[in-house]
Amino acid sequence: MRWVRRLSRIFAVLVVLLLLFVITGGSDTLLFYARVARLYTQSPDSRLAMPLEDVSKKAIADTWQAPRGIGRRHEGQDIFAPRGTPILSATNGFIYKIGENNLGGQTVSVIGSGGRVYYYAHLDSYAKGIEVGDRVTTRTVLGYVGTTGNAQGTPPHLHFGVYTTTGAINPLPLLSDRIAPTVTKKKENKGRLVSRKA
Ligand SMILES: [Zn+2]
Repeated sequence: MRWVRRLSRIFAVLVVLLLLFVITGGSDTLLFYARVARLYTQSPDSRLAMPLEDVSKKAIADTWQAPRGIGRRHEGQDIFAPRGTPILSATNGFIYKIGENNLGGQTVSVIGSGGRVYYYAHLDSYAKGIEVGDRVTTRTVLGYVGTTGNAQGTPPHLHFGVYTTTGAINPLPLLSDRIAPTVTKKKENKGRLVSRKA
């Protein structure tokens, strides 16, 4: 019965591999990929919640595709708020990436329905304990408004970008206010802030 012995040996190896897979977190990675794959089958969000709770859409000066130095255009919108203002996820989804780069400084990317990636940049700091793969909702704090990356020297703001599978799109038409419109509204249209570089 040589084949029985051989089969049991193969089975033992498989058990060890499976154990290693679970111990090293390979199953978490696989689960994350499975969740992301599922997102691709869903249609993208048609409305995005304003990432900064108290900022109204009207306060955003549209700088989509505004020139940013030689050969670069603004691939998103800047939302100005005091340093340290909590940044909430605009969508449900999963944290896709947390990291630093030259332009964005400290950044968090969230993947949502349709495989769209939402990019939050210039963070002063990250929300405590957030990790790649975490499930987020529109109530999840991702980090705090700052001036990291090329936003140094500008008023603190969140750079918000939306990337479809074929490239960046303007987030502004998709954004919707979190704050309920009040009768005694401040004149939000006046004094809109604009960053010319970040
Ligand atoms: Zn920007």
